[in-house]
Amino acid sequence: MAKVLCVLYDDPVTGYPTSYARDDVAQPSIYPDGQTLPTPKGIDFKPGTLLGSVSGELGLRKYLETNGHTLVVTSSKDGADSVLDKELHDAEIIISQPFWPAYMTAERIAKAKKLKMIVTAGIGSDHTDLEAANKHNITVAEVTYCNSHSVAEHVLMMILSQVRNYIPSYKQVIDGGWNIADCVSRSYDLEAMSVGTVAAGRIGLRVLRLLHPFDVKLHYMDRHRLPTAVEKELNLTYHSTLESLTKVCDVVTLNCPLHPETEHMINEKTLKNFKRGAYIINTARGKLCDRDAIVAALKSGQLAGYAGDVWFPQPAPKNHPWRTMPHHGMTPHISGTSLTAQTRYAAGTREILECYFEGRPIRDEYLIVQGGKLAGVGAHSYSDGNATKGSEEAAKYKKA
Ligand code: NDP
Repeated sequence: MAKVLCVLYDDPVTGYPTSYARDDVAQPSIYPDGQTLPTPKGIDFKPGTLLGSVSGELGLRKYLETNGHTLVVTSSKDGADSVLDKELHDAEIIISQPFWPAYMTAERIAKAKKLKMIVTAGIGSDHTDLEAANKHNITVAEVTYCNSHSVAEHVLMMILSQVRNYIPSYKQVIDGGWNIADCVSRSYDLEAMSVGTVAAGRIGLRVLRLLHPFDVKLHYMDRHRLPTAVEKELNLTYHSTLESLTKVCDVVTLNCPLHPETEHMINEKTLKNFKRGAYIINTARGKLCDRDAIVAALKSGQLAGYAGDVWFPQPAPKNHPWRTMPHHGMTPHISGTSLTAQTRYAAGTREILECYFEGRPIRDEYLIVQGGKLAGVGAHSYSDGNATKGSEEAAKYKKA
């Protein structure tokens, strides 16, 4: 029987909710490419309830305990005295969400002698050292597509809030002010601007589709080109390099995974190729950007704004400069963990566990690493290597 160690974010400070703002949670019937939503044999939670926090337990306890397994759930994940470090030695499966990632470094993987599978309840497995997972023959799986559209909606919200200067204007209201000039001296229309996505995968393509009705000029850069029919339908301009895309775009949104090829792709040097006054929207991963180069570009005016919900490490230390840099619209990592998305990825995690325990293959589209190499979606979208370096800084959040 297996021990499953599940690292989840803390409950709300006011306690686990006893009621919700809405009674139901709307779901699409299928994803646009024909992939089905998660298909576990059953679920033991009410869709729309808070599943991603400790008391929500991703709705897994009944299923696991009924089948004789042990479930340990904790939010304590950073520093040598964390519950994660104390419990991982005999865990067979570790589950965590990118919003509150259990950084599975090579050191931790080496200590976890019984570890067979690491599940990302969400999308983006860069918090696991994929090289070490390969070496130890550990399967890494994530719930592909579960929150791609949730993130795309967040991207759209952040583009509009930056370009139209929403957050400072909202603050005027809260502060009792009415200085219109202060609000509008950084406010523009999105219409007719050039907007480009770095990567046109599930999120990037959805962002392009959502932006199409705004009458903007759409650009994308990716390792693989989209079908000609899609390029025509959305009137897309393809760029084979980051430099070519950033030279012409007013807004650049990052939508690729973090892996050695993409780490710090936005840095002091590449920022020089952006149009002065461009906006960056990054809901993909904090480490795609060089932290200090972003701050410097906002201070110098090279960037007009930066918004996103991803940081490195997570949680971000209280003195992380992105909390206080000018013209930012940062949120904690929330875009992919709406109650709507949680319903999907909790079900997807359950599906992966059912497959694992019943000896059935995990869907190819959920696989990142298997059998000692990148597999499934991982083989398509990632590059070999490790992007967890520096994650120990996350322990500073509690100490600062
Ligand atoms: P997909 O796998 O559908 O898309 C990823 C895309 O990135 C693919 O088209 C891939 O290209 C492209 N890509 C990979 N490397 C590069 C590169 N070096 N240059 C340009 N493009 C590249 O994933 P999703 O769209 O669903 O998610 C993307 C990422 O967004 C996740 O990996 C995760 O990091 C982040 N995310 C964030 C969430 C949040 O809550 N903020 C939630 C969900 C995801 P190709 O396959 O053609 O090689």
